[in-house]
Amino acid sequence: MKHYNIGIIGGGISGIMAAYELVQHMPELEVCIFEKGNSIIDRRCPLTEDKTEKCINCASCAIMEGFGGCGSFSDGKYNFTTEFGGWLNDYIPSEKVMDLIEYMDKILIKFGATTHRYSTQTPKARELKKIALQNDLHLLQAEVKHLGTENNLMIMTNIFNYLKNKVDIRHHTEIIDIDHLNGKYLLSTVKEQFSCDYLISAVGRVGSEWFTEQCKKLKINLTNNQIDLGVRVELPYEIFSHITDEVYEAKLHYHTKKYNDLVKTFCMNPRGHVVTENTIGVLTVNGHSYSDEKLKSNYTNFALLVSNKFTSPFNEPLKYGKYIATLSNMLGDGVIVQRFGDLVKGRRTNEKRMNKSFVKPTLKSANAGDLGLVLPKRYLDNIIEMIYALDNIARGTANYDTLLYGVEVKFYSARPEINEKLETIKHPNFYAIGDGAGITRSLSQAAASGIYVARNILDKIH
Ligand SMILES: Cc1cc2nc3c(=O)[nH]c(=O)nc-3n(C[C@H](O)[C@H](O)[C@H](O)COP(=O)(O)OP(=O)(O)OC[C@H]3O[C@@H](n4cnc5c(N)ncnc54)[C@H](O)[C@@H]3O)c2cc1C
Repeated sequence: MKHYNIGIIGGGISGIMAAYELVQHMPELEVCIFEKGNSIIDRRCPLTEDKTEKCINCASCAIMEGFGGCGSFSDGKYNFTTEFGGWLNDYIPSEKVMDLIEYMDKILIKFGATTHRYSTQTPKARELKKIALQNDLHLLQAEVKHLGTENNLMIMTNIFNYLKNKVDIRHHTEIIDIDHLNGKYLLSTVKEQFSCDYLISAVGRVGSEWFTEQCKKLKINLTNNQIDLGVRVELPYEIFSHITDEVYEAKLHYHTKKYNDLVKTFCMNPRGHVVTENTIGVLTVNGHSYSDEKLKSNYTNFALLVSNKFTSPFNEPLKYGKYIATLSNMLGDGVIVQRFGDLVKGRRTNEKRMNKSFVKPTLKSANAGDLGLVLPKRYLDNIIEMIYALDNIARGTANYDTLLYGVEVKFYSARPEINEKLETIKHPNFYAIGDGAGITRSLSQAAASGIYVARNILDKIH
């Protein structure tokens, strides 16, 4: 059985940054990344490469799995903030999280990232904040860096080439079981076993259900997280250009008058593309944008998400989100797209109506349908109210032809009981990081959690 000093389950940004930091300071350590997906060079999605018209449920989803994690085909928006993007500051002081994010940025720059950042502190951005406030919308403050989908992939490839001779990177290696015996961790795949002294779980959203089961088996206490559910909006770029040209991505929060629920804009992609992703077996939507002018579209897309934290007796937010997404897949044979005007009128968008639309969907595989039959009334009401609120600061958001894709779900993994070092309380030397631990939901914070845990392990070893 091959033994490693440190085993990392998951080759997303959190696992990669942990591995980088470990070998940077102690190159003699034997570190292994176990990744169930493909290597970065072999990650190909038949849908995005136009080889198929709809998702064919590949054994390993190239969008979500493989070296680089689910962030590899994202457009790499790195936010410099603790205001959103995760809850690391529940464990680590905010200033320290910011230091870790800045450190991560230096690593990205070393591998080819731009140094340009968008800021919410310019006079124009402050004016936008004021106009938003006058309309009861709250513009969150953050610097953001946009790498662009094609650059993000290139940077991940550069990091892979740097790490491949320093770390064992095992692709197509899905860990199916974790055991803790005599102070060592045993990791099993369907055909092999490995052992390690220190274990880092960095499984992302895609591995969260499995990780939850492992935690239950290992008697690690779990607390459930919230769920964010909604739609992705697509509209002509000009409607939001006064905002996106200045701050790139506007994180706007709003409390609806009807229910006092929080609705927020999320993952804004100026001149981007809507994409579909396979999340734990269901098709959901997302978006990204290239930095190369030639690859840009004429539309901006962003998510509108309603946050919900369930209270007793219901305790399974993940199942709830999956259920709604399954319903949309069932009715739309995949992702549904509907014109805002049709939704408000309570009628289905069919192909004929869609053909009349001035806004043409960038996600070709989406089927025209009726989100009113998918989303619960409370979500629909919240989304419609938010669209009218946004129309006050970006006139045209509530146009008849604004497209809504459904559904977009942000599943947040249940959180294992961990201490301020992100080490499980029950099992020493077993750490949980990134989105799969339910403590982050962004590239920056996931990366920061990886660096932080690597440093904590190095401190123990020294
Ligand atoms: C399309 C898309 C666009 C996005 N855009 C942005 C953005 O612009 N900015 C931003 O901040 N965030 C964005 N996000 C979110 C961001 O990508 C995640 O927050 C981040 O990647 C989390 O990193 P992670 O390392 O925790 O997990 P992941 O990146 O999900 O990596 C986890 C890895 O673990 C592997 N794995 C899981 N289980 C096992 C197992 N049992 N054995 C072996 N391997 C396993 C998976 O295959 C995967 O590669 C986007 C996400 C998507 C899907």
